[in-house]
Amino acid sequence: MIQTAEQVLFPRAGQVEVREVPVPHPGPGELRLRITRAGICATDLHLRDGHIGDPFPLVPGHEFIGVIDEVGPADVRGLALGESVAVEMLVPCQRCDRCREGRYNLCQQDLDTPGPGRQLGVNIPDDAVPYAGGYASHLIVPAQAIVHRIPETVDPDAAVLVEPLAVACRAVSRGRVRSGESVVIIGPGPVGLLCAAAASAAGAAAVVVVGGRAERRTLSRSFGSTAQLDGRGEDLVSDVHRILPGGADVVIESAGSVDAQRTALMLVRRGGRVVLAGACGAGPTLQIPSDELLLTREIDLLPSFLSAGGFEPALALLASGRFPFTSLVTHVYPLADVARAFADIENRTEGLIKAVLVPEERS
Ligand SMILES: [Zn+2]
Ligand SMILES: [Zn+2]
Repeated sequence: MIQTAEQVLFPRAGQVEVREVPVPHPGPGELRLRITRAGICATDLHLRDGHIGDPFPLVPGHEFIGVIDEVGPADVRGLALGESVAVEMLVPCQRCDRCREGRYNLCQQDLDTPGPGRQLGVNIPDDAVPYAGGYASHLIVPAQAIVHRIPETVDPDAAVLVEPLAVACRAVSRGRVRSGESVVIIGPGPVGLLCAAAASAAGAAAVVVVGGRAERRTLSRSFGSTAQLDGRGEDLVSDVHRILPGGADVVIESAGSVDAQRTALMLVRRGGRVVLAGACGAGPTLQIPSDELLLTREIDLLPSFLSAGGFEPALALLASGRFPFTSLVTHVYPLADVARAFADIENRTEGLIKAVLVPEERS
């Protein structure tokens, strides 16, 4: 019988602890998950540093998969013990207007009350709802959480990418990418590379990836990119127009900088669509000649926030085996080595694409 669970905690901004806590039992409608993998997202480092509100004390981790370990009373999901599942980070109320129209990433529930409308591992303090973050050996899946079975054929090192792939699928869907269209993706981080795969799967005829790291540009080829550009020189706009005369049908910005957002507007064709999928943080402000870049060119500017509606296509794409997803998981660490994993990410360790934490198996 398991007695304790292992958890990473951000007690306050700038601090990381690993601790043992009593293993919980699920309440009505809840499940207990034994977490098998948790991906590290750049957002987690911003959370640690207090850049995203004040959710402390926080158990981070919003990209996790696991196995059903215990089913609480009154469960209606029909999942069996031992089933592998992915849980969406968004815990929507399913009752507000935004939830009812499917945009549950915009759930209007008051964030000051714990429970619905919140994001696991991001904005639910541990003293409000314990066991609600994925950097842990165990997590309690809230009654309102959305749970997906992971097909047995999907490798766990691919399945752990389901949340960032769901973000990518939402971005491509927001951009209404159609068969035969051209797509430029700025920022080939994990989400950008997965956007290339999702755009390619949506039928894009040309997928141009723009990014400064040569290894990532090369890797993007196996995720559907048809051309790669460095983007740091003066000539990016003319280089893109040389490949795609008139500009791209769709540009997806996943670098998370206002400079890249401005560049995206210069790379899209007249009447095209620009998807803003990268978070820029609280500081910088986008300044553009709006008549010249937006109004007179009738650009559709489409922010894409989190993963709503993205898990279903993401799981289908993972199961298709069409792209070498496991090659993105380049670094795997025991959960207790979270500080070393963070340091490797911050030092921009060569070859690191996606770092994943694996809790120690306990019985
Ligand atoms: Zn993330
Ligand atoms: Zn809602």
